[in-house]
Amino acid sequence: MKVNIGVEIGAKFIQAGIVDKYGRLLARTKVQSKCERGLSEIVEDAANLIRQLLSDKDLELRSVKSIGVACPGVPDEENSKILKTYILGLYNAPIKDELKRHFANIPIYVENDAHCAAIAESAAGAAEDLDYSITINIGTGISGGVIIDNRLYTGLNNAGAVLGHMVIDKNGRKCSCGRNGCFETLCSARALIEDTRTAAEKNPESLIWKVCENDLGKITELTAYEAMTLGDETGKEIFRCYVDNLAVALTNLANILMPEVIILCGGITGLGEELLKPVREKMHGWVYSRETTLPALKLSEMGSASVLVGAGMLAAYKKK
Ligand SMILES: [Zn+2]
Repeated sequence: MKVNIGVEIGAKFIQAGIVDKYGRLLARTKVQSKCERGLSEIVEDAANLIRQLLSDKDLELRSVKSIGVACPGVPDEENSKILKTYILGLYNAPIKDELKRHFANIPIYVENDAHCAAIAESAAGAAEDLDYSITINIGTGISGGVIIDNRLYTGLNNAGAVLGHMVIDKNGRKCSCGRNGCFETLCSARALIEDTRTAAEKNPESLIWKVCENDLGKITELTAYEAMTLGDETGKEIFRCYVDNLAVALTNLANILMPEVIILCGGITGLGEELLKPVREKMHGWVYSRETTLPALKLSEMGSASVLVGAGMLAAYKKK
């Protein structure tokens, strides 16, 4: 049996998984990242995880077709380094070269983690059997990936498809990228929590206080919605604004790329149709070609396996 290996280097854990050609995760394991260490130690841990997985599954090294490494940040044009990742504090990190010291004869690719998640949805998740999809992860920030014609689209120098830094409101909140009002400064979990907290402070009568048990530190991305369901006007207004901004961003993406499906993941998507339905309704009124079939709006199907699976499928989605 031929398999691929996916590796995910994240802020908390280094993970490795065995992925078959259908995008199924056959086994996975992890250790703590301890990001303050040097790159070679982090990569050595990844190499040890790979060896352990193969041995557990009675597989030899020669059955591994490729290794994909997913990491936050921007890869170089050769998919061999991560040029910068704020989360891990890596700059010009030669991940491929370091891993080659352990696995000299196996093709290795390095790619942004959100791009890998998009591959996973395309290969075996909510965009399976579709050629055009966009997957967006709504976390502390917003990241995503674009699949065009069953290939990962990353543009010139692999530096494109940075979906979280599309400006929605140029007079909006300052973004880490230097501009104002980016998609992620309006629609990330962090933004929603901050908006909910500010609104609670301005409105002492709001039921947000009840939901968070009078502790603003307990506010999550779901608090405004929960207050709204109790009949709270402040919560309703925050949620309405959130849906509006999300629909603006997704309409922009639909107008430019017109994928067959847009897939959302992240904590806020726990609301399911309660979130998707109002966003979809707005998009149906806004997308330029609304007379034609519009992109479906769906939840992620790959869950916590998405980045590992996508990393394992990188070789297939990179091949020309
Ligand atoms: Zn930005």
